[in-house]
Amino acid sequence: MIVSMVYAKGAAKKGKEAMPKIGVLTYNTVGSPQAYGNGWHRNEDREVFVASHPRGQVWGAGSGTLHETARIAAGVVQQAFEQIESNLDELDHLYVYVGDRGSEGAVALAARLPASKVTFVFCDCNLGSKRATVRAQGLSGSEEILCECGGHRTLERLVRQYLQPGQ
Ligand SMILES: [Zn+2]
Repeated sequence: MIVSMVYAKGAAKKGKEAMPKIGVLTYNTVGSPQAYGNGWHRNEDREVFVASHPRGQVWGAGSGTLHETARIAAGVVQQAFEQIESNLDELDHLYVYVGDRGSEGAVALAARLPASKVTFVFCDCNLGSKRATVRAQGLSGSEEILCECGGHRTLERLVRQYLQPGQ
């Protein structure tokens, strides 16, 4: 009940014409090399907020270092989340990349939104435990997209298709 009220309030405020604003949260980069940096990206009435690795560092994607650095990812996802935090109320939907061991932090942060406003973008590392974390955080109603390890290409495509739907 609370979920639909929050969503309806946001929709009413923007009016019928406004496109939903989306956010993308990842401890990695959107694109490899980085295609969309941190902050708002706009195209006409479409807006996307990207919160990613603060220094645009690319992890994973065959580098073999993803698992070693996953420990650090929890800290990086926290920093990325801080970028998006002040814009959270403005966002109609948040896409959250959930990698290997940084996953609990990312899911816990996403839990600050209602499940209906969250789509998790999972690579298949520890997929079962990531889904369990999502359920434990009360986000069973969220959508999920499966992606490659690192999520670079999937997130880049997602942002590009949202900003330039005809292409
Ligand atoms: Zn993976």
